[in-house]
Amino acid sequence: MKDVLMNTYNRLPVTFVKGEGMYLHDDQGKSYFDAIAGIAVCSLGHAHPAISRAICQQAEQLVHTSNLYGVARQQQLGEQLTALAGMDRVFFSNSGAEANEAAIKLARLHGHKRGIDNPVILVMEESFHGRTMATLTATGNRKVQAGFEPLVQGFARVPYGDLEALRTAAGNLKNIVAVLVEPVQGEGGVNIPPADYLPGIRALCDEHDWLMMLDEIQTGMGRTGTAFAFQQHDLVPDVMTLAKALGNGVPIGACLARGKAAELFAPGNHGSTFGGNPLACAAGLAVVEEMKRENLWQRAAEAGEKLHQALATALHDQEGIREIRSAGLMLGIELDRPCGELVGMALEQGLLINVTADSVVRLLPPLIITDEQIGELTRLLAQLISDFLERVQ
Ligand SMILES: *Cc1c(COP(=O)(O)O)cnc(C)c1O
Repeated sequence: MKDVLMNTYNRLPVTFVKGEGMYLHDDQGKSYFDAIAGIAVCSLGHAHPAISRAICQQAEQLVHTSNLYGVARQQQLGEQLTALAGMDRVFFSNSGAEANEAAIKLARLHGHKRGIDNPVILVMEESFHGRTMATLTATGNRKVQAGFEPLVQGFARVPYGDLEALRTAAGNLKNIVAVLVEPVQGEGGVNIPPADYLPGIRALCDEHDWLMMLDEIQTGMGRTGTAFAFQQHDLVPDVMTLAKALGNGVPIGACLARGKAAELFAPGNHGSTFGGNPLACAAGLAVVEEMKRENLWQRAAEAGEKLHQALATALHDQEGIREIRSAGLMLGIELDRPCGELVGMALEQGLLINVTADSVVRLLPPLIITDEQIGELTRLLAQLISDFLERVQ
């Protein structure tokens, strides 16, 4: 095969041609249990009839007009999302990184409005926020940044889950304007902060007039058991970004804002040719409607608990398991050794999983997973992990 595609991915040797709910089928006719859902994107499963119908109907009517004009679907999706989140306004983008770019620009506007010429955004170690220049700078992973220096100015980094480190930064840096943080770190290894972390950040932001900006690109849209992860606490952020599951595979991102943060942008400050076009918003609307109708975040909470318990039981006597962590259907099994090899082993067995942070098996199954499928996934995965741990010392 000619190398026409830029060399940016280590792709697995499989090509899918069809999807159906929890399953994918490859071009050789083999079926796979999908426990990664296109990286937390296809939360309603593959080829969901209601989503496919909404996309087809919209495509037959109107795909794109640009933001020079009113876009009814964008308005409707904006109303749904702001109501669901208890926030005021939304800007639509085409990806997660772009949603975070909007958030970063809001933080800087907020800073300049406060008279701070060189505003700083606090970001976390082990974080992931995207691959554009500003978002890779915000990302706490040297591998993502290496080779792309000079990085963007105006970020300072502290350890994740550590309120004391944030308080120290507040004392040392006078030009902080915002905190950008994931409620649960995804790429960083399914890292769950202490329960007082987000409330503590909220209090610090209120005290210092910083914007609390949550990157819910992976945790949002029901993944962790509530529509948005922050809803498991008694707080609302100033800014929240979404993408991944918002279109169930149709590219769409969103940056929501509340209160004064929602009033920062003025015409000319920001924009996107494609952002929030009728097709993407029709998909987003169908996703929100379906998730509400099926009470899918509730399902994510229950199914996540069941899957966690089932895996804990199945792996109980297995040496080499450090910890199982979960927030709804965002689940990480940390091993005591690098385990990237498990991805290929699972593929051979017809199971799609992911390994992140070298030694964490990450599961992000569609939220429509049934109890029976939880059993199927547990059996397959527990067997694979014990085979792996016996073979690879
Ligand atoms: C995936 C992800 C992003 C980047 O989203 P893209 O659509 O790939 O640009 C940003 N933040 C988090 C937490 C993510 O999981």
